[in-house]
Amino acid sequence: MFPEFTNIPADRQQAIQAALAGLSADQLMWVSGLAAGASGSSLPVSNGGSAVVTQASGPSGTTPLTVIFGTESGNSEELADRSVKAAKKKGFKPVLKSMADIAPGELVGCENLLVFSSTWGDGEAPEAAADFYTALMGADLDFSKVNFAVCGLGDTSYEKFCQIGKDLDARFAELGGHRVSDRADCDVDFEETYENWFAAAIAALSEKSGVSVAVASAPAELPVADVAAPEFGKSNPFSAKVIDNVLLNGRGSSKETLHLELSLEGSGLSYEAGDALALIPDNADDVIDRILSVTGFSGNELVSFKDGPKKALRLLMKSELDITGLSKAVAKKYNAVANNEALEALLSDEKKEEFKSFVWGREIIDLFVDYPAKGEFTPQDFVACLRKLPPRLYSIASSPKAHEGEVHLTVAAVRYETGGVVRKGVASTFIADELKKGTEARVYVHKNKNFRLPEDTNVPVIMVGPGTGIAPFRAFIEERDETGNEGGTWLFFGDQKYNFDFLYQLELQGFLKSKSLTKLDVAFSRDQPKKVYVQDRLRERGEELWAWLEKGAHFYVCGDASRMAADVHQALIDVVAEHGKKSEEEAEAYVNQLKKDKRYQRDVY
Ligand code: NAP
Repeated sequence: MFPEFTNIPADRQQAIQAALAGLSADQLMWVSGLAAGASGSSLPVSNGGSAVVTQASGPSGTTPLTVIFGTESGNSEELADRSVKAAKKKGFKPVLKSMADIAPGELVGCENLLVFSSTWGDGEAPEAAADFYTALMGADLDFSKVNFAVCGLGDTSYEKFCQIGKDLDARFAELGGHRVSDRADCDVDFEETYENWFAAAIAALSEKSGVSVAVASAPAELPVADVAAPEFGKSNPFSAKVIDNVLLNGRGSSKETLHLELSLEGSGLSYEAGDALALIPDNADDVIDRILSVTGFSGNELVSFKDGPKKALRLLMKSELDITGLSKAVAKKYNAVANNEALEALLSDEKKEEFKSFVWGREIIDLFVDYPAKGEFTPQDFVACLRKLPPRLYSIASSPKAHEGEVHLTVAAVRYETGGVVRKGVASTFIADELKKGTEARVYVHKNKNFRLPEDTNVPVIMVGPGTGIAPFRAFIEERDETGNEGGTWLFFGDQKYNFDFLYQLELQGFLKSKSLTKLDVAFSRDQPKKVYVQDRLRERGEELWAWLEKGAHFYVCGDASRMAADVHQALIDVVAEHGKKSEEEAEAYVNQLKKDKRYQRDVY
């Protein structure tokens, strides 16, 4: 029970345990303080051969703990931050660091290490963690003094689910680190997995480093979301009333982009320009009906989700379950009951590529249609295959200073056809089809500290936001309209056609007039035979762009991650190379430095 290095004789250990048995958490804390006082302010403790100096730990312990995170949309950072707060109460003295701000070599002396990393896109490291990840994978370092645990975050609908967490976990062990508890692979609905992981990891680290047994074994205080957070939040979304919902595209457009205005009145929720709004959609009735008809369920069957109370299947399908997102994880769970041989073969490692092309554009219902169950498949079996309906994050399109008590979004409705069936994005078409004036949507604010205007209004800002990527820049321009725009604002916007798709055209022209928007460059891709994109405009304006950068401008990109963001990144490097008279490598280094200085920020999806 007591670590060996404490050298406390067995009979004294029993006596201590007997004395502590049944004491409340507060009483245990007090006893630990008493012990600290009796021992003097600090005492050397031998810890597995490496001498460390630590005070008897308690709420103000000094056992070092390093918590690092690699975040894309803020979830890893949020969990890392919560872990720091909870670890303090467990007798540690934690420091929190972003992978963007450290090199792997700085961690070799860490005794205790908690690692959080999300996985982005097709198994990639979050942008801010990419350099750290690459350096660690190629490093020849000795982590034999480090006790570590890794919490990966990801989305089971992607093939390389939690890949970065898996890689980091393996690499720290390969380099001699001691894994004190198993890695967590968190899906979008991460609360439970994270809490279980944290409880195990912190208990193991406590034991390894001899943090006061009393405190470490005190009843687990779960690292719940920030206690100072408003009443409404992730675990208790606010029902926001729809003030307005307007189609931004003109008649004849092939796009369907909506401007949604929600009231936050009475919620206590607040946000800053650059933050995102999480919205929890309902599933559409026609989608539910199709699944019920294919499975033969009535929808009235009473079922429970993850040990929750029994509810009618249709009710759960409507607003609690992800009934469309098809992933390998769902297919595997389904086939554990369905026993369809053809599906079993498709799920094998050899058929990875075939499975990928089957999944592309398809939904869970396609499993039932193409690979029917061989035996009985009950409504409860169906529910057991599913995950919680995840919220969708939308970049906020308004400044709270310009629209007190309101939050605005810019949303592209996703509708497409595969296998002769019309499919629709769950949240975007919920917004388009269901959120009429006066209805309500479940929302909470998702902070994005990595996408912020400079506080100083003298600093110039360059914003690149084609399509819905304009959203946060409408917020930025509104913000500068309220606070001042001495430094200058420059927007690059693009969409398909000038006549139909010039989102917020009148507002932007108004801001140009009032000088809250200094410059506007547009690229309408389909108004001429050869496509023109925002990156073409960046290159055309290269000389002035370079001058703005040299004046200290911040550079922002929002919108499509798959191609646009990479193309704009390359255009930025090209501009720096040409007009800054630099080699390709020097230009890359210049752009990397912009990132490090937080002058190059992206919000891409
Ligand atoms: P978009 O239609 O993807 O693009 C807007 C403009 O960018 C178009 O003129 C497009 O041209 C152009 N473009 C295409 N490829 C480009 C590239 N490599 N570099 C630069 N520009 C490029 O913009 P959107 O309206 O934001 O896109 C909607 C899509 O975003 C939806 O289908 C959805 O999947 C996704 N999405 C939206 C949200 C949201 O609404 N907030 C959230 C998540 C995902 P062409 O089309 O003419 O090539």
